[in-house]
Amino acid sequence: MLSAPLPANEAERQQALESLNVLDTPADPYLDALTRLARDLFGVKTALISLIDNERQWFKSRQGLEVAETPRTVSFCAHAILQDTPLVVEDSHRDSRFCDNPIVLRAPHVRFYAGHPLFDAQQQALGTLCLIDPAPRRLDRQELMRLRDLAYVVQGYLQLRHCAHQADDLRDALSREQRKGMLDPLTQLWNRAGLLHFLPLEQAVAERSGLQLGLIYCDLDHFKRVNDEHGHDAGDHVLWESARRMSATVRPQDVVTRNGGEEFVILALVKDDQELLLIAERIRLAIASQPIVLEHTQLQQTVSLGCALLGPGESSGAALKRADQALYRAKHEGRNRSLLAP
Ligand code: GH3
Ligand code: MG
Ligand code: MG
Repeated sequence: MLSAPLPANEAERQQALESLNVLDTPADPYLDALTRLARDLFGVKTALISLIDNERQWFKSRQGLEVAETPRTVSFCAHAILQDTPLVVEDSHRDSRFCDNPIVLRAPHVRFYAGHPLFDAQQQALGTLCLIDPAPRRLDRQELMRLRDLAYVVQGYLQLRHCAHQADDLRDALSREQRKGMLDPLTQLWNRAGLLHFLPLEQAVAERSGLQLGLIYCDLDHFKRVNDEHGHDAGDHVLWESARRMSATVRPQDVVTRNGGEEFVILALVKDDQELLLIAERIRLAIASQPIVLEHTQLQQTVSLGCALLGPGESSGAALKRADQALYRAKHEGRNRSLLAP
């Protein structure tokens, strides 16, 4: 196997990537929509936005791959960022650079690879938009142009996102190491540590802006059955897909966290409890209205939600507890519903 050499300007490249503040951040619904589109447009198993970090490639968006990162040494994308045209490997078994690569020989069995490099505004290579399939294939000229256009949109989005976030002191205040410890690798949402970090910050924003901090406690219904009937991997996929739907449903400024297991907590600044309930209902419908597609079957998942507004002088812990009690009532009254805490 040939590991990719480091680019000549590696130090500047790494610096450019880090200054984007995108490594170890939660999944982004807009980028997820783009990788979904890429996967479906090309009919491949996997589509990724892969960022080439010091020792690893980390996936900002992934469809059809269960891991959040892999070592840089086995990365195809680390080769792709060395050029400004796409790297296409039609059949890894016939390519001496890749034929004995562990990700070719073992899962995910990369046979076909096409990666289009992504650059920042100063033309530093950050990573790729890439397509992967376990069967060999080729891309014709038109397909290569489509891949280029999609990569162009991803790149533009990353650059605009960076500009937008420079004005956003709340999330940029976290260092990368802090972010890393606050990210749930399975769902790519903030984890419980992230929730505890953002609670007081959102509370302060609420006070400054005259809005109220709303908490939505959200728990998948009968989730144990999913594991029992379809296996743990299917359960993981349902958690992943539910997380995507929640993030895509709430407003960009809302904070979606995985509190643990199949429980999620959403923080939303609202003007009153009706607005909070509306957000909860949108989440409920996003999950219930469309079955989740598994490898061999489809599954109707529902979710129950409890909502509470942080009261004047109330601790966030107490408000969370009230939201949890409302959730408990929602379960008790038949599940697949959203209830407000008194
Ligand atoms: P209810 O409607 O009352 O919430 O029922 P439930 O089955 O969802 O609740 P219960 O607490 O009995 O079961 C939750 C299950 O979630 C049990 C646990 O195995 C599963 N679970 C927790 N974390 C994970 C995970 O990371 N992956 C998978 N696949 N399952 C998980
Ligand atoms: Mg549950
Ligand atoms: Mg639970």
